[in-house]
This record gives sequence, structure tokens and C-alpha cells, in this order.
Amino acid sequence: MATQTVNNNHHNDEFDPDDPETQREMMRPPDIEQDMKEMDRRRRVDVILNSQVFREELERIIESQLNDGYLPASLSALQQVTELLMPGASSRASRLGHSGPPINDIRGVDGLKYAKGEKLLRCKLASVYRLVDLYGWSMSIYNHITVRVSREQEHFLLNPFGLQYDEVTASSLIKVDLQGNVVDPGSTNFTFNKAGYVLHSAIHAARPDINAVIHLHYGPCVAVSAMKHGLMLCCQESCVLGHISYHDYRGLLVNPEERADIVRNLGPSNKVLILRNHGVVTC
Ligand SMILES: [Zn+2]
Repeated sequence: MATQTVNNNHHNDEFDPDDPETQREMMRPPDIEQDMKEMDRRRRVDVILNSQVFREELERIIESQLNDGYLPASLSALQQVTELLMPGASSRASRLGHSGPPINDIRGVDGLKYAKGEKLLRCKLASVYRLVDLYGWSMSIYNHITVRVSREQEHFLLNPFGLQYDEVTASSLIKVDLQGNVVDPGSTNFTFNKAGYVLHSAIHAARPDINAVIHLHYGPCVAVSAMKHGLMLCCQESCVLGHISYHDYRGLLVNPEERADIVRNLGPSNKVLILRNHGVVTC
């Protein structure tokens, strides 16, 4: 904190070419300068997210939405946080934010039927579906995001096949086992997309270290997946993804051999798998 105060004061000072700090700044290469600006931006976002004022503001938004908002409070709060942290997403967020049921639709005694922690996990997963939609990464009712319910049981939650991402709620999520048997059908009459789940179950079975799998057909990701060289490590954003795996996608996953190939291609520790000419998987 003390350092920050000194820096801020420094920027407010008159320009002094003899000041050693000014000389250091002038000699900095532009990419280091850019990195420092980015680090500074992240520090500021961190300070905001962890601040008491931010928490109070968030609580105020939720409370005012509960009292007099026409949107479900959870969705409205997500929308406002998205607008705060990602200004570019605001137009889509405000367009899509006017529809959809509340994320947490598990009320009163309904919550008792879930094991400890599952209700919260359901709310979190439903929120991820909504965020994917707010960012414009969803594709109608297709693609899946799965999450492991617990380490003891090989049970997973995923979306009912038939709901748009802005309609997914905590109670509607379907619980399935690794073999694709339904453990809890959720609150809708929809079932889940079995062919789509094959990709997720193969990864969850082979990688117990992974708790969640996201598979998307977001346009820019599909474009990268269609390029021979894949994702080029030409900027810091691509470098932070770690080692990236590739799989020559062959169509609907009905062949058990392809499941084995996917697991082999993902490897024991990678977390991003590009399905060539198809899309992306992140874990
Ligand atoms: Zn796909």
C-alpha cells in the first residue's frame, strides 16, 4: 500500500528528468511497460473484488433487485458484475439479461433432498451456464459444462438437453454417473445429450484431478481449431493457458476407440484440448 501511495504521488509530480525513478521509467522497453500496466490493472481489479465497499455495493444491488427489480436478483447481480468487470459484454448482457428464470430456484424444503454442498454447487454451475451465455459463447441448447459432485461418488451435473443456457437453473441440472445413468433427472422433463456427454465422461473417468469440463463451439475458438498451426503462442494470453493438446475430431463420439484417443491426446496434466475443426475443451 505504501509503495502504491509513493507511485501515485510520483505520477502527480512535475516532470523531473534528473529523478532516478523517471529515468528508470523512460528506459523501460515498451513490452515491459505494457506488462506493468496489465499487472497494475489486475491489482486494481483484485483490490476492488476484495474490498468491503465492493461487497457492500454487491449486497445493495441484490437487495434492491429483491425488493423492486423486475429481473431475478441472481441474474441481475451477475449482469451488473459482468458489466463492471467486462465492459465489452454489456450490450449482450443487457439484451439477454431480460429473460430467464432465477438461477437459484431451490427453495425451502426442496434444498433438503440434496447432500451437503450440492445445492451451492448447482447454483455455481447454473451461474457458469449463464455467464457463458452473457459472454456470447453459447450455441442455443448445444454443448455442455459438467461438474463433479463429489470425490467419493463418480456423479456429475450437466444441463438438460432442451434448455437454452439462459434458462438453466440450479434445480434443472441433471445428475448422472460415469456410465451415463441418470441419478437425479432434475426439475424438467428433458433428458441429457448422451453423445455430448461421452466426451465429458471420458475425461472425468481418466482425470480424477479435474472437477469441471467446459466444451464450446465459440466462433473464434472454432476458427483457431480449423487452422493447421492451432493456437499460436504469440501473446501472453495464449501463454498462460499452459500446454495445449490437440485431437483430430472425427464426428459424433460413438466409437470407444475415439474416447481412448481423446484421453491420450489430452494427456495426464493438460487442461486445454482443441478438437480440430470443431471446438475447444477446457478443464
Ligand atoms: Zn462439440
